[in-house]
Amino acid sequence: MGRAIDDRQRLLRGLPSVDELLRDDELRRSAAVCGASTAIMTESVRGALEEIRARMLSGALHEVTIDDIRGAVAARMKGALASKVRRVINASGTVLHTNIGRAILSEEAIEALRLAARGCINLEMDIESGERGERDCLVEGLIKRLTGAQAASVVNNNAAAVLITLNTLAEGREVIVSRGELIEIGGSFRLPDIIKKSGCVLKEVGTTNRTHPRDYATAITENTALIFKAHTSNYRIVGFTAEVGLKELVEIGSARNIPVVEDLGSGSLVDITRYGLPGEPIVAESIASGAGIVTFSGDKLLGGPQAGVIAGRSGLVERIRENPLKRALRADKLTLSALDATLRLHLNEDTLPRTLPVLRHMARPVNEIEAAAQAAAVLLKEALGDGFAIEVEDGESVVGGGSLPGHNLKTRVVSITHRTTGPDGIFRYFLNSDPSILGRVSKGRFILDMRTVERPGDVVPAGPFVP
Ligand SMILES: *Cc1c(COP(=O)(O)O)cnc(C)c1O
Repeated sequence: MGRAIDDRQRLLRGLPSVDELLRDDELRRSAAVCGASTAIMTESVRGALEEIRARMLSGALHEVTIDDIRGAVAARMKGALASKVRRVINASGTVLHTNIGRAILSEEAIEALRLAARGCINLEMDIESGERGERDCLVEGLIKRLTGAQAASVVNNNAAAVLITLNTLAEGREVIVSRGELIEIGGSFRLPDIIKKSGCVLKEVGTTNRTHPRDYATAITENTALIFKAHTSNYRIVGFTAEVGLKELVEIGSARNIPVVEDLGSGSLVDITRYGLPGEPIVAESIASGAGIVTFSGDKLLGGPQAGVIAGRSGLVERIRENPLKRALRADKLTLSALDATLRLHLNEDTLPRTLPVLRHMARPVNEIEAAAQAAAVLLKEALGDGFAIEVEDGESVVGGGSLPGHNLKTRVVSITHRTTGPDGIFRYFLNSDPSILGRVSKGRFILDMRTVERPGDVVPAGPFVP
């Protein structure tokens, strides 16, 4: 017992000091190679020594060489400098996947981002007069043209668009919403909570499955500020149902001088049925039906950067713009530049399926997906080797991101099974590759949906499989 403690003390005394390690030529070289500053090197040396000491004291470690110590320090330096951002190949079958950043941008938007990042832009400057301008002006003209709205403003995301709209137009007053439209999006956007946080009072009307015009009409009081309509973008109520259309709500509201706000969520600017896709509400139709304000996301069907667009009547948009919250929620030069490029692509609906990746992926013909799946299957058979069975099968993709709920798109998937490892193990193997490959587990097997994968080789994992 006493000897064991003596041994440990001797081991600890044999360790090099922090200063000795900081002067070690080999460690200094590896710090230079990975670009570690003196501060990070010092922190890594201290951390590595502390860990080694603790393991010696607990009896878990009996000897350590200088190379072991150098290795431990180098690993810590690399860890401190490594990026947490990892590229992910989206083979999940969800075109707009919130957890991996929703819409991928068009080449035009990427170029616009690059320009705005490299240098300055006329973000808040009117070039003709040289006076201070309003940043919304960069995209307002395009939004007006594409939606028919009188005015538009842009904020950080659609949740922010809803928040600032409610706070501006209805703070301290009542907002009427159908019980069938009290939506929750992605866990943290819950309409009743946003209404409360906006300083408004939620007045629920109707029932979950049926709401009638008279429900709205009788709910209006002196204290009613808004009628709010939310697009049920991630669920569908079917069966014995009734909802009041936007036109009718506008009639009910205008008789009492109460504007109707519609949260469209995914908000498509074009009619996507012309590309063979199921219908989604179009912003221009809501504006034409008389909505005072329509809000929608920039990174859902619009296929642009994360943003929230507020489009509607000039008087209402002007009030929203003057809300001090606008300063807290406004979009930056990168977002506005990428949004501008994305909106300009929408000016040509014929070329849109080629220029806008989100639409290209949604409308991708099954025979093209099939060809990608066959090519990927060949590469995967070569790379994965024995133990795996690889098949190309029918499957279904979803649009996701709160768009086209209940509508699945026919696709072809690569299905991968292993003799001994289950689908979850294969899922983790692909996910832990670099770049990460996100497939999904469906009906007890691991599948890769090639709909959103541009190059078949992208779904081949980098490292070997360890069962
Ligand atoms: C997606 C969505 C939101 C939230 O939009 P973000 O851009 O994610 O903030 C709000 N309302 C509806 C109806 C949606 O579909």
